[in-house]
Amino acid sequence: MADNEDTTRRGTMEEIVALCKRRGFIFPSSEIYGGLSSAWDYGPLGVELKNRLERFWWREMTQLHDGIVGLDASILMHPKVWEASGHVESFADLMVEDTVTNERFRWDHLSDEQRESKTSPAGNPLSEPKAFNLMFDTHLGPVKDTGSVVYLRPETAQGIYVNFKNVVQTSRVRIPFGIAQVGKAFRNEIVTKNFVFRTCEFEQMEMQYFVHPSEDEKWFEFWKEQRMSYYSKLGIRPERLRFQQHGPDELAHYAKDAYDIEFEFPFGWRELEGIHNRTDFDLRRHSEFSGKDLRYLDDTNNERYLPYIIETSAGLTRSVLMALSDAYEDQEVGENDRRVVLKFHPEIAPVTVGVFPLVKKDGLSELAQEIERKLRRRFSTFYDQSGAIGRRYRRQDEIGTPFCLTIDYETKENQTVTLRFRDSMEQIRVPVSELSNRLEEEIENYTRS
Ligand code: ATP
Repeated sequence: MADNEDTTRRGTMEEIVALCKRRGFIFPSSEIYGGLSSAWDYGPLGVELKNRLERFWWREMTQLHDGIVGLDASILMHPKVWEASGHVESFADLMVEDTVTNERFRWDHLSDEQRESKTSPAGNPLSEPKAFNLMFDTHLGPVKDTGSVVYLRPETAQGIYVNFKNVVQTSRVRIPFGIAQVGKAFRNEIVTKNFVFRTCEFEQMEMQYFVHPSEDEKWFEFWKEQRMSYYSKLGIRPERLRFQQHGPDELAHYAKDAYDIEFEFPFGWRELEGIHNRTDFDLRRHSEFSGKDLRYLDDTNNERYLPYIIETSAGLTRSVLMALSDAYEDQEVGENDRRVVLKFHPEIAPVTVGVFPLVKKDGLSELAQEIERKLRRRFSTFYDQSGAIGRRYRRQDEIGTPFCLTIDYETKENQTVTLRFRDSMEQIRVPVSELSNRLEEEIENYTRS
């Protein structure tokens, strides 16, 4: 739905951050100590949203796709992994400093004009660009010397590559096949800003698809299309999504072709996910550095080869921000009244059904609780009996609950309840006995209005 300028508008970043704090989605990390720059904690609603996004991705990528299996590799890995991958040598951003304010900038984030004139956004002279490695290092064991250095992984992908042989030998996968993984990654980012968009600790959802080298372009196109359609299944507005191809000077050292899927955040178009043709770079390097033969044997024709890898790499924590900023609407409802509503897809909404007794007395609370207890086995529910019913609806709108049920005197007479829809605010009567199935259907057939 396009924003209607008169009646509905998008949330600003300030509004989204404030709502996240107020309603328990996302808090600043260690806030009672003044917070830690750009680190965030997911509160009761935020963790539900993040977990649901993760499950949606996992189901889409593993359960609903042939030939994709899962993995959960450790964060700390053998330090040689990062030499082989090229991260020790070249996982660096060029950094410059405003020589007056000492503010730091990524060279590639400055405008052409600022780079040419070597001036900061404040108009001050900039220092010479310096390479800055983004990997965090630490030490394994009690002795802190060069021999004990390990890195916090800056991407989850390498855990997949080093397990390629294990997976081939232990599962019945045949090329083409994929390995999916969700997990934490760490980068010592020079500039962290825009809430959870860019942080030093974040989560990635990555799927590495292993293909015959002669078929890389076909699978690259396939995954580009699949990944874009995933976002429409999630209900993200199509006009806020686009592809952006990496130019030859932007391509990573391992990539033959790369596209970003970008989303229009309140602060502009930014990368959400990268789709990369990594060729056989990673497996070749790990073969060389480990001395192990990582070639795949095709038992139909005895061909032995290093597969090419098509990578789809999305940020989970960044997707949380995408979901929040796509869902947030400040909407006029009736004359002189407005509401804030998060129009999440029901599959990712932290609460699916709000259940309310119209009043606390005359046995309506007990009846509502009984209905809520039955529904909670299949849905995430929230019971609320305090305040006027209109207020209770608004509180659920603000956290994105797609359906609310009100139990009233009629329920006692004819076993029906009011089902109220978040997006349209329409209300209908539904028999209690049909509630579960009706809600399942509504979730299945949901389109945002
Ligand atoms: P950028 O150019 O923005 O630094 P990148 O191109 O290095 O990002 P990738 O290495 O392709 O990013 O990582 C894949 C995905 O992981 C990104 O599309 C993004 O969603 C997520 N991601 C990467 N870095 C961060 C970060 N610092 N904070 C949150 N998410 C991140």
